[in-house]
Amino acid sequence: MIVTGAASAGGLGFATARLLAQEGHTVYLTDLDGDAAAARAEELRASGFTATGLAQDVTDEAGWRALVARVTTETSRIDGLVNNAGIAVLRWMADLDPASWDRQIDVNLKSVYLGCRAVLPIMEAQGSGAIVNLSSIAGLVGIPGASAYAASKGGVRLYSKSIALEVAAKGIRVNSVHPGVIWTDMQKVAIEDNPAQYDAINASIPMKRMGEPDDIGNMIAFLLSDRAKYVTGGEFVVDGGLTAQ
Ligand code: NAD
Repeated sequence: MIVTGAASAGGLGFATARLLAQEGHTVYLTDLDGDAAAARAEELRASGFTATGLAQDVTDEAGWRALVARVTTETSRIDGLVNNAGIAVLRWMADLDPASWDRQIDVNLKSVYLGCRAVLPIMEAQGSGAIVNLSSIAGLVGIPGASAYAASKGGVRLYSKSIALEVAAKGIRVNSVHPGVIWTDMQKVAIEDNPAQYDAINASIPMKRMGEPDDIGNMIAFLLSDRAKYVTGGEFVVDGGLTAQ
């Protein structure tokens, strides 16, 4: 199993990698911060799991080829990919310059295409595999001040459905997961300038709390497992009821 953006200790990628390792999978944790990815993998190995941490820029096509070559050399197969790495460019339209737009789309959307492009030939040869792409509730509803982020995540949603249809008959499943507000570094950065927003966000969520990384990791682990063997092209909202209102 490959999980991108898995170096952040309190992030969704590491929570997912840990849950997958606990289920007995060999896990590759990749991240722009290769040292931190290696440290997270070491933590998992110290708990008796099989994990490798590697540096990867998910926007780099050659890096994807190198990753897939390494994983297939070491394990002969790729059963799952979690396209989790992401950034949040939170700018109002007046401040949204073209370079920031391009960076947002490259890291959150083009990376998902590059990841799928890299692993699908392996999964097709195996006749099996599952991919989970991280979208967001921002891929379902508009968010003022986050138009580039929302565009990237909306793209992930429909890219996932389209690819799911292309490979459904080949034994490969592709789904998107849509977290609400989850307490990770990304969220801390988003509200660090406005602590009052923390209470306001919790109050706005029907379950009255932000999500925990494991809330998302458990959904991803389910979608990658055989328990979800008839699930493809779906969008899975994990948001404490936020978008049900
Ligand atoms: P995070 O910031 O804690 O972790 C993201 C990781 O991605 C970091 O370790 C970072 O180094 C890595 N990364 C960034 N750019 C990269 C690149 N070019 N190549 C490789 N790695 C790169 O974020 P998180 O909150 O754990 O979010 C994980 C995913 O979930 C993201 O796609 C995010 O958009 C999505 N999401 C998060 C929330 C939330 O509330 N936290 C809500 C909805 C969706």
